[in-house]
Amino acid sequence: MTARIIDGSAIASEIRAGLKQRVQALVARGVRPGLAAILIGDNPASEVYVRNKTRACAEAGVHSELHRFGAGCPEREVIELISRLNADAAIHGILVQLPLPPQLDAEHILQTVAAGKDVDGFNWSNLGAIVAGHPRLVPCTPLGIMTMLEREGIAVEGRNAVVLGRSVIVGKPMALMLIARGATVTVCNSKTRDLREHTLRADILIAAVGRPGFVDGSMLKSGAVVIDVGINRLPGGKLTGDVDFASASQAASRITPVPGGVGRMTIAMLIANTVTAAERIAAV
Ligand code: NAP
Repeated sequence: MTARIIDGSAIASEIRAGLKQRVQALVARGVRPGLAAILIGDNPASEVYVRNKTRACAEAGVHSELHRFGAGCPEREVIELISRLNADAAIHGILVQLPLPPQLDAEHILQTVAAGKDVDGFNWSNLGAIVAGHPRLVPCTPLGIMTMLEREGIAVEGRNAVVLGRSVIVGKPMALMLIARGATVTVCNSKTRDLREHTLRADILIAAVGRPGFVDGSMLKSGAVVIDVGINRLPGGKLTGDVDFASASQAASRITPVPGGVGRMTIAMLIANTVTAAERIAAV
């Protein structure tokens, strides 16, 4: 079997076109959605991610502003800025680009973002809302993956889904969203014994481990749908996923590439969450 590629770039650009219309409707009512990005330190990958996010804002007609801090900035200054942005009527979404320098308590900082402006979906009240089955603002990567599956007409209900990774930003919310859609979900982590026993049962496999080429074709059930979340930079600078694309695409029925897969959807969902947040704030 040779897998069909799920084109994240194409799906994301369709979604962004739809978002432009929602932005225009808001602007007609006197509200331009606004996103504030906070970038701390000089991590080159974070620079690229933030640049791509602000570019996507401009394309959708969303106002964006970038707030920079040096790597050694005190936590108090970041929290003061977030408090100001929480109260700023021109800002509907606030994102704190991760990872943060080690002296900063990321958990504490993220929890100071107002739940209604938490477009990354990392606030505990937004995460808890997913657990309760009443999602509000949902983390962008799993939201992008669910949207991708839906757009591709891939059935989730009744299927075995295996999620590799249990992080708060990808693995855990991903598992909860798959459960909500009726999948039977297994979540694996670094302590999982006999990983292959689990992956071989997956109708849908989501790899979010952070290790290049970790999943190969021999670990897959024939015809599985493979979603590669990993973004790993190889020594030469090339980006690669958590899945060995060449062997996996011989076993899978559908597969996402890296780049051009989940990453594009994540950015589109950030803009979608910002527009949703603006619509909710404007409706009050
Ligand atoms: P993370 O916080 O480092 O979590 C990695 C997870 O993988 C952990 O739960 C870890 O288990 C698990 N793991 C590690 N080794 C494993 C093994 N041998 N078997 C099974 N599970 C194992 O990473 P993350 O933030 O979730 O990100 C994962 C990857 O996705 C990274 O490459 C990241 O760059 C990428 N990413 C991409 C996007 C996108 O838009 N495409 C967005 C976010 C992240 P333990 O919990 O036991 O340590």
